[in-house]
Amino acid sequence: MKNIRNFCIIAHIDHGKSTLADRLLEFTRTVAEREMQHQLLDNMDLERERGITIKSHAIQMNYFYKGEEYVLNLIDTPGHVDFSYEVSRSIAACEGALLIVDSSQGIEAQTISNLYLAIGNDLEIIPVLNKIDLPHAMPEEVSDQVIELIGCDKDDIIHASGKAGIGIEEILNAICDRIPAPKGDPEAPLQALIFDSVFNSYRGIEVYFRIFNGTLKKGEKVKFINSGKTYEADEIGVLKLNQESRPVMGAGNVGYLISGIKNAKEVKVGDTITHVERPGESIQGFEDVKPMVFAGIYPVETTEYEELRGAMEKLQLNDASLVWEPETSAALGFGFRCGFLGMLHMEIVQERLEREFDMTVITTVPSVQFHVFTTKNQMIKVSAPSEMPEPNYIDHIEEPFIKAQIISKSEFVGPIITLCMDKRGILKNQTYLTSDRVELTFEMPLAEIVFDFFDKLKTISRGYASLDYELIGFRQSNMVKLDVMLNGEAVDALSAIVHRDKAYDWGKRLCEKLRELLPRQMFEIAIQAAIGQKIIARETVKALRKNVLAKCYGGDISRKRKLLEKQKKGKKRMRQVGNVEIPQEAFLAVLKLD
Ligand code: GDP
Ligand code: MG
Repeated sequence: MKNIRNFCIIAHIDHGKSTLADRLLEFTRTVAEREMQHQLLDNMDLERERGITIKSHAIQMNYFYKGEEYVLNLIDTPGHVDFSYEVSRSIAACEGALLIVDSSQGIEAQTISNLYLAIGNDLEIIPVLNKIDLPHAMPEEVSDQVIELIGCDKDDIIHASGKAGIGIEEILNAICDRIPAPKGDPEAPLQALIFDSVFNSYRGIEVYFRIFNGTLKKGEKVKFINSGKTYEADEIGVLKLNQESRPVMGAGNVGYLISGIKNAKEVKVGDTITHVERPGESIQGFEDVKPMVFAGIYPVETTEYEELRGAMEKLQLNDASLVWEPETSAALGFGFRCGFLGMLHMEIVQERLEREFDMTVITTVPSVQFHVFTTKNQMIKVSAPSEMPEPNYIDHIEEPFIKAQIISKSEFVGPIITLCMDKRGILKNQTYLTSDRVELTFEMPLAEIVFDFFDKLKTISRGYASLDYELIGFRQSNMVKLDVMLNGEAVDALSAIVHRDKAYDWGKRLCEKLRELLPRQMFEIAIQAAIGQKIIARETVKALRKNVLAKCYGGDISRKRKLLEKQKKGKKRMRQVGNVEIPQEAFLAVLKLD
C-alpha cells in the first residue's frame, strides 16, 4: 500500500486536463505510442467531439521513481456543473489532486468549486500551470492567483504544457513525493466506494470502486449498502488500458467489479460495497442524485413511439441519472417526460437518441420542478405546465433556488450584475481574487438558469465568465402558467411556467419569436399567449400568397433544388398540430427570447 498513489485532476473545461492525462499515460508507457489516440480518456465519440469528459474513468499507471515502483491510479473527473456529484465522488476516492490552471486564462469558477471539494476531502493539492507554451501565457500573474487561492509556495507550482510535453516528469515525481499513500486496514470489514459505472453490452455493468478498508476476493458475496442489493463478485481487477483481472484486492486499491448487473439504475455512484458476511458501514456522503431539469421527448413520427421507448430503455441502461416516464400531450401525442441533471445532460440525451438509435425527436420547453401547495394544504410536485392545478386550487408555489458563483474579469462585473438582476438574482457577495478577477455570488431561481442564462453570460463577458451553481432550497414565488394557442387551439407543448412579473413581456416576445419560426402556410395562423382566460399577446403569420418555388421559375435550377432540399430537411423535425406545422425550434423558442 505504501507505493500506491490515488489522484485526480481538477480543472476548468478546456484547461487541458485530457491532454495532460494523455501525456502521463505516454510517459509511464501505460499506452504504447502507436496505441495512443488523441484524448484517450474520453472514449465516447460525443465526448471527444464536444471536448468534455462526461463520464469519469480510471486508469492505472506504473512508474519507477528513486528505485521503487509506484502504482498511480488516475481517476478522471467530469468537468461540467451538471455532473458535480460525480466529481465529488471521484474526488472522495483520492488522496491527492493535480490542480490544473490554464496559464493563459487563469482561475475559473469550476477550478474553484472543484478545488473546494478537494480541500474539503483533505486532498493534497499539486498546482500545475498548464499551456506555458502559449505566447500569451501569463505564468507570473496566474501563479499569484494560485498562491492567493491555496496559500502554497511559488516553488510548489509546476509549469507544464500537455501539448508540448513540458513538466510531465516533474508532475509524476511530485505525485510520488507529495501525495500521501492511502491509509486503511486490509483486515477490517470491507468498505469500497463506487465512484463510477460503465455499461458494456457484453459484460453488463462494470462498477468502478476504491477500497478504503478490508479486502475483496473474486467470487465473494457482496452487498451494495445503500441500494440493498447483493451480488457475487464474478470478476474483479485493475484498470489498465484494458482490464486486468485479479484474484484479491486490498485496501487502498482502485479497480472494477463485474457481477452480472444489467441495469445502470441498480448501481448508484457514491454507494458502498461491502461483504454480505461481516458487513462494514456505509461511506459518508452518499446522495441519491435528483434530476433538476425536466422536458418532454416525443417522436417526430407518432408511429415511432414504441421504438423511442426501446431507445430510452437502452439509454437508461448506461445512464443512471436519466429518469423518464410516459407522458401524453394533446398536441404531440405519446411521448416521455424526462428528468435531467441539467441542460447539457438534456442535450446529450437528445443527441445520443439521434446518433446511437437513429431517432428523430422533438424536445419540449424544459422546466424545473415546482412545489405547488394547494388550498387543501397538499404539496404537488409540478415539472410540466400541464401538471399545474387550476389557479383557484393553488395556495402558493415554491421554486428551486440556487447559489450561483460567477468568476469573471472585473471589466464585465457591471453587465453581469445587470443580467443576474434581470434573472431575479440577488447579489450576495463580491470578492476580488486579484485586481483583475472577481468572484460574484448570487442567489437565483434555477428556472432562470435553465433558459438562456449561460449563453447570455458568455456573450456579455466575451466568453470570460464562468459559472458554477448548487441547489440551496425552495422559495415562494409568484409563478403562473402561460399558455400558447395557435388558431385558437391550445398547444400544451408550448406552455411554460413563468414568473408573473415577466409573464407579459415573455408572452409578447414568445409570440414574436413564434411568428418568425412558424413556416407560412396556405392560411393565416393566429398566435396567442394567455394566462388563464386572459389573452396577453397576439401575432399573426400571414398566409402564403404564392408557391415558394414560384420565385425560382425560370431561375437557376440548382438554387431551386437547394430550396427543395432545405424544405425536406426542415420537414424532418416538424410536428403537425391541428392544421399547423410546428418545427422543433418553435418548441424551444422560449430558450431564445431576447
Ligand atoms: P480539458 O477540457 O481540460 O480536457 O482540455 P483538453 O485537454 O481537451 O484541451 C483543451 C484545448 O486546449 C485543446 O484544444 C488542446 O489542444 C489545448 N491544449 C491542451 N493542453 C495544451 C497545452 O499545454 N498548450 C496548448 N497550447 N494547448 C493545449
Ligand atoms: Mg477533457
